[in-house]
Amino acid sequence: MNRFLRIGLLSLFILSSAWGFFAHKKINRLAVFTLPVEMISFYKKNIRYIEESAVNPDRRRYIVPDEAPKHYIDLDDYGDSAAFKLPRYWSKAKEVYREDSLMAHGILPWHIQHVYLELKDAFFVRDPERILKLSADLGHYVADAHVPLHTTRNYDGQLTNQVGIHAFWESRLPELFSAEFDFYTGKAKYISNVQLEAWKIIAHTNQALDSVLRFEKLLNDMWGEKKFNFETQGRQTVKVFSRAYSKAYHEKLSGMVERQMRLSILAIGSLWYSAWVDAGQPDLKSLMYYKPSEEEIQKREGELKKWKSEKINAKRDTLHTR
Ligand SMILES: [Zn+2]
Repeated sequence: MNRFLRIGLLSLFILSSAWGFFAHKKINRLAVFTLPVEMISFYKKNIRYIEESAVNPDRRRYIVPDEAPKHYIDLDDYGDSAAFKLPRYWSKAKEVYREDSLMAHGILPWHIQHVYLELKDAFFVRDPERILKLSADLGHYVADAHVPLHTTRNYDGQLTNQVGIHAFWESRLPELFSAEFDFYTGKAKYISNVQLEAWKIIAHTNQALDSVLRFEKLLNDMWGEKKFNFETQGRQTVKVFSRAYSKAYHEKLSGMVERQMRLSILAIGSLWYSAWVDAGQPDLKSLMYYKPSEEEIQKREGELKKWKSEKINAKRDTLHTR
């Protein structure tokens, strides 16, 4: 293996992180503009943070042991039509499969619901730091759910002799062509059941997987080694999928990457919006220049906990009286 090739493969490897840093940041940033007037000023004021932190969950993958499975779900490990048959809710899924088995195949759709509930709580207690952190995190996972290669165990084409396809689809294509994309998505919509929505997204994304793999295979058969060339990036020479090959693939996919980015943006804005609505539409303008003290936040968290346990008890009581 010559030096160039080694550097090249290394760079393909480094780029193999969900959606690529470039696209994740762009998606989180653009989601801000889908928000309603009551929310947009707060998010716009913090847009740099929302954008920069879009990649934090990927950074955590290398330090936090249970982080990686939150970014994908290997549907093919569960047989046919898994996106429609798997238990919708985490509690049920744990009953049917063991938790360590679920973790082994990835838990992305359930994790979206989990982060959404945490964000809702952060809105409840009006904690600006947590709202921003969880909004950025939720943006990341929702964007991952729109990447077809995040729904299969063949996540980098390693089972079909297409290694490198992950970064090709989600990093190289957006970096080369997103300047021409139309990112107009319209306004964020209220999602009444986030868990079911997460599954809808996963099922829709998974339907595109066949094209992602098949079209690259078709082109590869025609182009062979000519699909690669070398590019100078900074002081390094790296082996990359050539521009011409990338364009051919992009055209064959008829705008799939653009579509998936647009869907990600709208879904993220809609989930932020829904968490805010479900938390009773707290006044975000008041959080723009005011940071509550640690004590205040703790007090509100205590109130939230009390309210939640009262709600559970009330439910139990009605069950008893039936
Ligand atoms: Zn990810």
